[in-house]
Amino acid sequence: MTTDIEIARAATLQPITEVAARLGIPADAIAQYGTDKAKLTAPFLASLADKPDGHLILVTAINPTPAGEGKTTTTVGLGDALNRIGKKAAICIREPSLGPCFGMKGGAAGGGHAQVVPMEDINLHFTGDFHAITSAHNLLSAMIENHVYWGNALEIDQRRIVWRRVVDMNDRALRQITTSLGGVTNGFPGESGFDITVASEVMAILCLATDLEDLQRRLGDIIVAYRRDKSPITCRDIKADGAMTVLLKTAMQPNLVQTLENNPAFIHGGPFANIAHGCNSVIATKSALKLADYVVTEAGFGADLGAEKFFDIKCRKAGLKPKAVVLVATIRALKMNGGVAKADLAGENVAAVTAGCDNLGRHIENLAKFGVPAIVAINHFTGDTEAEIAAVKSYVAGLGREAIICRHWADGGAGAEDLAAKLVEMVEGGSDRFKPLYPDDLPLWEKVETIAREIYRADGVSADPAVRAQLSAWEAAGFGNLPVCMAKTQYSFTTDPERRGAPDGHTLEIREVRLAAGAGFIVVICGQIMTMPGLPRIPSAENIGLDEAGNVVGLF
Ligand code: ADP
Ligand code: MG
Repeated sequence: MTTDIEIARAATLQPITEVAARLGIPADAIAQYGTDKAKLTAPFLASLADKPDGHLILVTAINPTPAGEGKTTTTVGLGDALNRIGKKAAICIREPSLGPCFGMKGGAAGGGHAQVVPMEDINLHFTGDFHAITSAHNLLSAMIENHVYWGNALEIDQRRIVWRRVVDMNDRALRQITTSLGGVTNGFPGESGFDITVASEVMAILCLATDLEDLQRRLGDIIVAYRRDKSPITCRDIKADGAMTVLLKTAMQPNLVQTLENNPAFIHGGPFANIAHGCNSVIATKSALKLADYVVTEAGFGADLGAEKFFDIKCRKAGLKPKAVVLVATIRALKMNGGVAKADLAGENVAAVTAGCDNLGRHIENLAKFGVPAIVAINHFTGDTEAEIAAVKSYVAGLGREAIICRHWADGGAGAEDLAAKLVEMVEGGSDRFKPLYPDDLPLWEKVETIAREIYRADGVSADPAVRAQLSAWEAAGFGNLPVCMAKTQYSFTTDPERRGAPDGHTLEIREVRLAAGAGFIVVICGQIMTMPGLPRIPSAENIGLDEAGNVVGLF
């Protein structure tokens, strides 16, 4: 079987100037990185403001399983298919993180015949955005320590420095560290730790900021530490916001690349989908909407987390009006949601598929609560049988929706033309009435309750009194209007990753809440959340190298 990287390398790439030209972007409006990657320049982005917006389409999925769903692959395939049926379409996805590339196999640039290229560059250093974010984040860390070293005029309580460090690598040894050992000139010993770059609040800020001015304001708002009286100290107090904005100036410009079928793809920003909102940058999505008639984008994890945060955080804050949702399901994942173990996925099992449809059905019901019409895409795997596909189609038809089989992984855009045609019909039907799930002014606790009840179908929410007191304190301090960013397992509607399907009657237990004052949301943590992954026993890095011709091998 041909691997993703082999398919990607066999593609004929067009000069990026030609891809840009099809969106009406002149050559002097892009800064090129080689011949196949570019950034849109700031003056050109500003010039787009008065143009009308195209249609925004979200690709989301049922609860993920280790069997894989294929949101990115479907986003790419659908974008290509829309172009094939004569629509001017672009896709918007996240930039992959470097660390995981060396851990588990599996890229973040699509798969099979639905990929973005040049995939090696996109998956590795790309245009340097993550390096810029890492640098900006760590500049702030250094300036905090330096402030304390030179007398601590702000009276930072060193035990209450909440700003950690970041690096874009899976390195579990750095999760918890001791700093400033080795004598007086090295500062005051303390505790710190590293998160992976995609977990940085700077990443979330870059992805939600509308321009450089908004970026600097949000960076300034980051809370970095507290005094003994628990009053907050911000990045603005440390006077790091200006220099951080300078480091991020180029990283704020969206990157343009192409799909295997030479269609435009914006790949920009990549916040975590747990402690952050998990969507590509607002600036890329807004620019793409000015340049294309259809923009297909993706949100991390399943619809209970990804779509909810896309609607309630990104769309609410950026004023976006999504027109339709594509809900991706696979026969394999439906079987797992229906109770089958990963080892037993081979062979037809219509009963398990039907049982797993509970999970699909609940997501369909949930999506209706945002007022956006939904269509189901069955991402076809080679082992799927006709009877299994028919079972899903008839289940979905019973809910008054349609499920379309898609073969873009095997056949490229041609394999998703049916989906594209149905989607266009749905969008042109104009039945969308997007609204976020809860109003801005609902108390924070009730925001969590609303999501728990309406989306997770929990009976109630529980938390330590300290958590409730913290939420009330933030409301009193003026943060009550922020949306909440749920951090929960992606594998289940509940907080228990083993409970697949469509469970109800459970309780949502909040373990911790964190204020991301710069990003503009309250993170609500339910269960264990990992912000610095480790590498597996046999990391894929062991098999990555260069061949005699200098090509990268072993990367996916
Ligand atoms: P997601 O965005 O939902 O995390 P991806 O689109 O990145 O999922 O796909 C995850 C993995 O599954 C990728 O390695 C991709 O190549 C593979 N994959 C996706 N769709 C198919 C398919 N139809 N058949 C085989 N493999 C697939
Ligand atoms: Mg993806």
